[in-house]
Amino acid sequence: MSSTWHILGAGSLGSLWACRLARAGKAVRLILRDDRRLAAYQAAGGLTLVEHGQASHYAIPAESPGAHGPIHRLLVACKAYDAASAVARLAPRLAEGAELVLLQNGLGSQDEVADQVPRTRCIFASSTEGAFREDDWRVRFAGQGFNWLGDPANPTVPQWFDDLSEAGIPAEWTVDILTRLWRKLALNCAINPLTVLHDCHNGGLLEHLGEVATLCDELAALLRRCGQPQAAEMLDEEVQRVILATAANYSSMYQDVRHGRRTEVHYLLGHACRTAARHGLGLPHLERLHQRLVDSLQARGLPSD
Ligand code: NAP
Repeated sequence: MSSTWHILGAGSLGSLWACRLARAGKAVRLILRDDRRLAAYQAAGGLTLVEHGQASHYAIPAESPGAHGPIHRLLVACKAYDAASAVARLAPRLAEGAELVLLQNGLGSQDEVADQVPRTRCIFASSTEGAFREDDWRVRFAGQGFNWLGDPANPTVPQWFDDLSEAGIPAEWTVDILTRLWRKLALNCAINPLTVLHDCHNGGLLEHLGEVATLCDELAALLRRCGQPQAAEMLDEEVQRVILATAANYSSMYQDVRHGRRTEVHYLLGHACRTAARHGLGLPHLERLHQRLVDSLQARGLPSD
């Protein structure tokens, strides 16, 4: 089996992973959206990663989805709403038993991807690392963090897992990846939508702790109902800790809205509300929050799904 890391999407996280793997001598190939993006990348001559104020250039080979050659290992680094359609275009190139690592935040996109490529192994990731695009093909590594990877259908550690530590990518294999993803989703639901609706940084929510606590109660009930009691433990306390520790920061959803970008709401608060409805669980405050957020996005001309 080929040991090449194909990386679908050279945005913030895709570039961060690609540069670190390439720097460690791993074979890496980027798969860009189309021929136009490929030409723009080739004109730039590679990716630039800015770390600790230092910019380094990596001339990583790239191709478009229609290129030939089988793919054995694919890191999917698109936004949640792009992941399934982007992977579907590559389906004819995926080798039998190919392994996909899905970096998407939230829940729901992982199953959408898996439905497109049933004969592959889909590994879910939850990342607390932070990176953002300063420009096309230029990414700043903005926040140290950690990556948890796991496969809800198969606890076996993938053969290539040591590539990550060799590349300086902090990561651990976990059999509880769904618990991690649910916990992160719940934290996101309790903080990010309110920062958009109250137009504030995370610390601004200290003036709305009653509203936050009510949402945490409903989110904890949802987590318990869908078989994730561990993800529900001390949720309110952790949300308050995160609000304090990141008081000066603007949430990712706030930043997306401020820059007129589509949010991943469908895979965060939207997923929580759909799951509650499927379980017949009424969560009035969470549903009302979702509706207010959808209205606010629509009023700004942004997609609300
Ligand atoms: P991003 O910077 O917007 O990058 C997404 C990339 O996907 C873009 O380069 C985009 O291409 C590419 N793309 C979209 N459709 C494609 C297609 N069909 N074929 C090939 N490439 C395609 O997003 P991100 O911030 O890296 O986020 C990726 C995921 O990681 C999200 O779910 C996010 O929530 C999660 N995450 C991000 C961070 C972070 O710090 N950035 C941290 C934790 C989790 P174009 O350049 O052509 O638009």
